[in-house]
Amino acid sequence: MDFKRYIHAHSDELLASLAALVRIPSVEGEPEEGAPFGKEPARCLHEMLALCEKLGFPTENMDDRVGWCEYGEGEEMVAVLGHLDVVPAGDGWTESEPFSGEIKNGRIYGRGTMDDKGPMVAAVYALATLKQSGFQPSRRIRVIFGTNEETGCGDMAWYASHGGEMPVMGFTPDGEYPLINGEKGILNGTYTRTLHQTGDYILTRFEGGEASNISPAYAVAEVKCPTEAASKIAAEKVTVTPIDGGIRVEAEGVAVHGSTPELGENAIGRLAMALAQLPFTGETGECLAFVSERLGMETHGESLGLAMRDGVSGDLTMNVGVASFENETLSLTFSVRYPVTLPYELVYPRLKRGFTLGGFTETEMTHAAALYIPKDSELIRRLLGVYEAETGEKAEPKCIGGGTYAKSMPNIVAFGPIFPGDEVREHKPDEYMETRRVIQNAEIIASAMKALAE
Ligand SMILES: [Zn+2]
Repeated sequence: MDFKRYIHAHSDELLASLAALVRIPSVEGEPEEGAPFGKEPARCLHEMLALCEKLGFPTENMDDRVGWCEYGEGEEMVAVLGHLDVVPAGDGWTESEPFSGEIKNGRIYGRGTMDDKGPMVAAVYALATLKQSGFQPSRRIRVIFGTNEETGCGDMAWYASHGGEMPVMGFTPDGEYPLINGEKGILNGTYTRTLHQTGDYILTRFEGGEASNISPAYAVAEVKCPTEAASKIAAEKVTVTPIDGGIRVEAEGVAVHGSTPELGENAIGRLAMALAQLPFTGETGECLAFVSERLGMETHGESLGLAMRDGVSGDLTMNVGVASFENETLSLTFSVRYPVTLPYELVYPRLKRGFTLGGFTETEMTHAAALYIPKDSELIRRLLGVYEAETGEKAEPKCIGGGTYAKSMPNIVAFGPIFPGDEVREHKPDEYMETRRVIQNAEIIASAMKALAE
């Protein structure tokens, strides 16, 4: 019997259910009673669990942070993990209202259609089609709905710390096809150094960048100094302007995502290299020499002693994303992405030692461990087998520098929902998903659930 029949017979209902969820603007809000991440994410979770019950599945709601539905019997459980919260609408919507769920031209529009409500509604109908076909899994299949993926993953941290059952295998349709089996480890941190300034050249301003995970497109410094200093700086994409009592130095860069800094140009590094041409003395001279020589515009942390790579995920990358100078303290915020097979214990001490040698002190550090599930494991082989059978395309897994929801739960990899070559509009205006892709996701997820649970 065709186990996908229910999906095809109910595709309009599937899309209408998705539209109803998209109409709930489930952006994180103020915590309140019964809504720890704000009213709308909790309302969206309730609505989703009601849909699951309508389709005949038992559900659980864990403190209005995480919910799930389940099908089948068995000791072991396999999971499909996704999230119902969304990023804010932002400006620039021209094709539809951001929370419309409008269907036109073969697309369903609205925030969350691709990331990640579309794939989660597809997962629920995938479970329904398996149930309706009479499929009896030997492992339970659980569809888990988080509500805080976009703003910190407090949902899955809660699940893990409050006895939530962990799957033996599973996937999150919150990345891309064919499959992501490696995600680099991420160290986001801030190091600072306070300067006791002396001499004829005094740094009064140094700032640039917006976030640790974006390479900065612009950085600016001001220096109290003799006006003839302007002629001492000669560098490409650097502008020097005389100002009252000194000069202003501005550097241009090229903004790219911080997981691929080698594709951009770092304006903060460029600015430090330009300033190092001035005869700063004392601590300021030392500090600028360190930043220009050890960080500069390098993107693999080479001069900091961090040049490391592995065969599956490539080079370590480093992106200094934000710089500021306040109360005589220079502060640098960065993101390091290290190869999937290298241990944290190897990377972090080197990073810290590098900055310490430059007189910097660590003021902030967060770590997300690397994720890596080998290509020949049961999970990867089965999911790639499903993808190849469903699409007729040869599939290779890949490693990325970014982090997906897969990192929030053990034994999970990102599988779907975006097909190679399709336009990626998540987090952008006019987010949409082609309706045929929503349905195709439901089919693939059904096959994948079957492959993991039979
Ligand atoms: Zn997402």
